Amino acid sequence: MVVRGLRKSYGSLHAVDGVDLEIERGEIFALLGPNGAGKTTTVEILEGYRHRDAGEVTVLGYDPGEERHAMKPLIGIVLQSTGFDHYLTVKETLSMYGDYFPHPRPPDEVIDLVGLGEKRDARVTTLSGGQQRRLDVAIALVGDPELLFLDEPTTGFDPTARREAWHVVKNLAGLGKTILLTTHYMDEAQFLADRVAVIAAGRIVAVGPPSSLAGRDRAHSRVTFRPPPEVALPDDLARALNREGRVELVAENLAATLHQLTDWAVRVGVALDDLEVVRPTLEDIYLELTGGEAAHSDAPLSSATTGRDHRSRPGHRRTGQRGRSAR
Ligand code: ATP
Repeated sequence: MVVRGLRKSYGSLHAVDGVDLEIERGEIFALLGPNGAGKTTTVEILEGYRHRDAGEVTVLGYDPGEERHAMKPLIGIVLQSTGFDHYLTVKETLSMYGDYFPHPRPPDEVIDLVGLGEKRDARVTTLSGGQQRRLDVAIALVGDPELLFLDEPTTGFDPTARREAWHVVKNLAGLGKTILLTTHYMDEAQFLADRVAVIAAGRIVAVGPPSSLAGRDRAHSRVTFRPPPEVALPDDLARALNREGRVELVAENLAATLHQLTDWAVRVGVALDDLEVVRPTLEDIYLELTGGEAAHSDAPLSSATTGRDHRSRPGHRRTGQRGRSAR
């Protein structure tokens, strides 16, 4: 999939403002970005459901703006919620959807792939929310697509269901499918994606594997601990006290920093019980790139607090189903 110079405006709002992307076959690619960044607009253009103003787009060799119908049998789309016929069972639902495609996968095979084997003959009304979401995925798979669009696939899932859904997605990638995923969950992107792109205000601000996005792998670790109140700190440690009363050191050379610290601790008898070595998380990098909390800190990224415990996630839930008329 190749996207070059993609643009789409709504009146004076440049929702997508010159996006370039290349996604390889067989790749799991995640698009991350705050609300209103332009993810849905971009994805819907790639799916052929929205017109673009400018730019080149090639999806599986087709231009989705011109050749949507030829491309359609090759793609699967998992929306936020799909409408089901409530009188049908899981298997009947998949057989019905399969009839729309020239070479459908056998419904039983798809049911097993998404882990709905026990619900094969259950009516769709009796499925839990997470099971219905699996059925959404199964519906997208029944046409045996080469490319799958997953829109926030685990929003609203409990932790166990999320893990299970992740394994379903990994299985699909194992079958050679290309997957384009949008998500607001950094752990999801970290676990699933071969590469992620961060989009902000209609532009791609970083692309790369989650582990090394925007220099994450080269960022310095932080070493932190809470000193006992009765211990007098040497000047360099006293200067490194943060607002929470923890010593927080930016470690350019982790071994040397730990060596100096433990040497001091052994001499003065401090146990360093709560010592932590923290590397920047994908969420830290994301917040930095998208102008989140970390970007407003004076401290460099490597010494900014990771905030996993006190920052709110960029929470999001789309309500209702997206319109599907070409716009
Ligand atoms: P979210 O994470 O909230 O789903 P997103 O990254 O998917 O956001 P888009 O839905 O692509 O963002 O929206 C990008 C911008 O375009 C937003 O400011 C949005 O309000 C605007 N927008 C989207 N669709 C339309 C429309 N049909 N008419 C006018 N403005 C629109």
